[in-house]
Amino acid sequence: MPLKDRMPDPATPPGSRTKARVTAIPGDGIGPEVMRATRQVLDAAGARLEWEEALAGAEAFRRGIASGAPRETLDSIERNGVALKGPLETPVGYGETSANVALRKTFEMYGNIRPVRELPGIRTPFSGRGIDFVVVRENVEDLYAGIEYMQTPGVALGLKLITEPGCERIVGLAAALAAAEGRRKVTVATKANIMKLTEGMLKRVGERVLMEHPALQHEHMIVDNCAHQMVIRPEQFDVVVMTNMNGDILSDLAAGLVGGLGVAPSANLGDRVAMFEAVHGSAPQIAGKGLANPTALLLSSLMMLRHIGDFATARRVEHALYVTLEEGRELTGDIAREGPGASTGAFVDRVIANLGRESALVPAREYRPIALRQWPQVTWSRAVASREMAGVDVFIETDQDPETIGGSLAAMAEGSAFTLTAIGSRGAQVWPATGGHSFLVDQFRARFLFRTPPEGDATTAITDLLQRIGREYRWMHLETLQRFDGVAGYSVA
Ligand code: NAD
Repeated sequence: MPLKDRMPDPATPPGSRTKARVTAIPGDGIGPEVMRATRQVLDAAGARLEWEEALAGAEAFRRGIASGAPRETLDSIERNGVALKGPLETPVGYGETSANVALRKTFEMYGNIRPVRELPGIRTPFSGRGIDFVVVRENVEDLYAGIEYMQTPGVALGLKLITEPGCERIVGLAAALAAAEGRRKVTVATKANIMKLTEGMLKRVGERVLMEHPALQHEHMIVDNCAHQMVIRPEQFDVVVMTNMNGDILSDLAAGLVGGLGVAPSANLGDRVAMFEAVHGSAPQIAGKGLANPTALLLSSLMMLRHIGDFATARRVEHALYVTLEEGRELTGDIAREGPGASTGAFVDRVIANLGRESALVPAREYRPIALRQWPQVTWSRAVASREMAGVDVFIETDQDPETIGGSLAAMAEGSAFTLTAIGSRGAQVWPATGGHSFLVDQFRARFLFRTPPEGDATTAITDLLQRIGREYRWMHLETLQRFDGVAGYSVA
């Protein structure tokens, strides 16, 4: 069922609305405490929600569920389309994966959204700067696809996988989010100057997609400068979009600007499902002691209310929370201005007591639902007019020196369809010698180019080359060098 059909119509008066059903996953450690606190506040504020509680995390692992998320939980999320989740412990020693990653991947929640906004009463070196931006992080591709190999006993390789539709979706989401929150600028931050194909893909696709949104300003920023700018002049940002790992690191940096992970909310969005959660973990040291601060999950639940179209309740709770933080009475220990701080329960009571009060510090922002594009359920591919194979890179394991390897691979290629053009070690050319001083390890990449472009399938020629190489060297990896529409689809040494 499309998401909009499951949600209450925001135009309908609250009293007459049907309730939106939400999967609530309390999670581990302090999770149940902050979930209870959040539900208490939302219920007191009159949110028309029906909670369906579901299990995930440590208890699921203990029951032998390798993903950490039982079938009933997945079914509940699938049915409801919206989940509020407490932190899930990643057990060390048992369970095969992280339940968080399993949920993200199962539902292809490709967009991670992390608002970064100064909160009243939370003093940081950046207080008063008016920080108010959103980090949009691609959530499923990149180095986090988890495609890793030991190429030799001492050399590990991880593949950075970036796709064109992956970039299109995440930039499209950044633009949709900007429109929904009345934001004006999208910064695409990449490392395209070094990783021209992978990070360059986000830059190129970003420029194309954002050209379709003339009301939005857009810019590109090299991601390391973006980290620097976030610290030097964070108020310049509005929406920042990044690939998975860059987004992971910079969203934590950004959270640090406004009070840290303990007060940072987030949303994971996909076509079918949206899951809202605090950024912090299960804080096992303080679990069960009534010390946990529920602010981050409460802020995440406001993102959830806006997602389902209940803007009025979100606004009411946001004001009550801001008044509470601003007045500074009954704050939990992690953010208390003095003394040991109040209990989770006392903080919640204070927020509930403040419902109906208004804070001048809540930014005036008109929210609208995020208009997410639905992606067709087909295998995506890009058509090209021409493609040709230029050669192959063969990765070999040897402890010989580059001159010896170059001499013998060049001799092996004689009489084959290929000629050896270069050998690299850890990305630097070591044959023919360049005069550089590369440290050498037992993994080399040998680049062979076709003497004449092959007609049709090149498998026989490649197999012949591998057989020649295999007589003397252990090879562990082969990559074909392709040109699409005349453009080299590989990095040039
Ligand atoms: P953590 O966020 O649980 O704790 C870091 C520090 O912040 C601790 O001092 C903790 O007491 C404090 N803290 C965190 N949240 C708080 C809150 N709401 N109120 C008051 N203090 C708070 O990080 P960690 O110790 O690295 O991780 C603990 C567990 O949580 C691990 O198993 C980890 O895998 C898991 N984890 C889960 C998620 C998630 O589910 N999204 C995220 C991060 C970590």
